[in-house]
Amino acid sequence: MTASTTIVSPLDPALDQLAARLAELAPAIDQDDHWPAEQLRACGRSGVFEWFMPRSWGGQEWSDADIVRVYLRLSAACLTTTFIITQRTGACQRIAGSTNDALKERLLPDLVSGRSFATVGISHLTTSRRHLAKPVLRATPDGDGFILDGFSPWVTGAPHASIVVTGATLEDGQQILVALPTDLPGVTTPTPPKLVGLTASATGPVEIDKVRLGPEWLLAGPAHDVMRSGVGAGTGGLQTSTLAIGLAGAAIDFLEHESLARPVLASPAAELRHEHTELADSLLQLAGGVQVCTNDTLRAAANSIALRASQAALSAAKGTGYVVGHPAGRWCREALFFLVWSCPEGVMSANLCELAGIE
Ligand SMILES: Cc1cc2nc3c(=O)[nH]c(=O)nc-3n(C[C@H](O)[C@H](O)[C@H](O)COP(=O)(O)OP(=O)(O)OC[C@H]3O[C@@H](n4cnc5c(N)ncnc54)[C@H](O)[C@@H]3O)c2cc1C
Repeated sequence: MTASTTIVSPLDPALDQLAARLAELAPAIDQDDHWPAEQLRACGRSGVFEWFMPRSWGGQEWSDADIVRVYLRLSAACLTTTFIITQRTGACQRIAGSTNDALKERLLPDLVSGRSFATVGISHLTTSRRHLAKPVLRATPDGDGFILDGFSPWVTGAPHASIVVTGATLEDGQQILVALPTDLPGVTTPTPPKLVGLTASATGPVEIDKVRLGPEWLLAGPAHDVMRSGVGAGTGGLQTSTLAIGLAGAAIDFLEHESLARPVLASPAAELRHEHTELADSLLQLAGGVQVCTNDTLRAAANSIALRASQAALSAAKGTGYVVGHPAGRWCREALFFLVWSCPEGVMSANLCELAGIE
């Protein structure tokens, strides 16, 4: 992949080239499960990692609405690569939003340029292992630092990351957020499991065996509910909905294309397109600060259209779509991801009610 023009707006023609190349490579990473290194390099060369970051750190600081526009395009092209970018961005924004200036100086230049890779493992503070009596990653004060012990269950791209932004819980219930260097003794990243979809995202646990971190790695806390403050990785935001709507868009494009020769598909394709346009519009309004609905309402609707549109594409593709390698089957597996990715209780309940046919 040779795309190297820095993309400076969602209207930039170089974005079309990047999206086309990501779409071309998407079937291969779905089948061989290889980390999309080439795709991420191309994104770095195209300035993708700059979009999300403040100008003061060499970023382009795009508006939330423009970020939505490009995420819609990229997720339709390759959900795996785009998902990895969201996790990378979540980590970078947490670092940039911290008050640890020395750490920002140390990490951000290489992250913004794409020379290094960071990711997030914060689900155990938000949506994973919350029902357990004992936190899965614990912190104990040790002089001016902390000793971390336990694991972070879900960390996208962990084996490829030099830094994992993660959180740990102290005995009194307060939490800290840290930038954990993965090369410290005691930090290990077991081989990530094979997933129903997005296996190439190399998502798996990071194990942390009594690792001491000095204050130089602290991003926030100790505080109760440390994820509530600051920007970056979190739950209940718009990006999960954006990627779901982006994926649905790819499936609807396919359906529309098939309907050109098969009139029976025209009406379902038109209905789905209409709904998709409305959802994308709501998304852009929310990103622009107009509260047309709650983020959770949009998320539930985004999950729903991702599931239905991908299955509509599969129905249209028939048995041919059920053969591994056809995009319709991949979209169906990828749509399932939105049922489990960063799903707050309210969204999970809405999903379950829809599946159970409860109004
Ligand atoms: C592909 C993928 C990539 C991800 N990437 C990231 C990432 O990069 N960074 C990140 O921070 N997170 C990531 N996540 C985590 C994600 O956002 C959710 O936190 C995760 O899907 C929650 O699932 P869990 O099985 O850990 O949930 P849990 O709530 O821990 O559920 C685990 C099991 O416990 C049982 N259970 C659940 N609730 C209860 C209860 N109340 N009482 C009794 N039993 C219960 C169920 O049997 C369930 O199967 C990723 C997840 C996936 C699947």
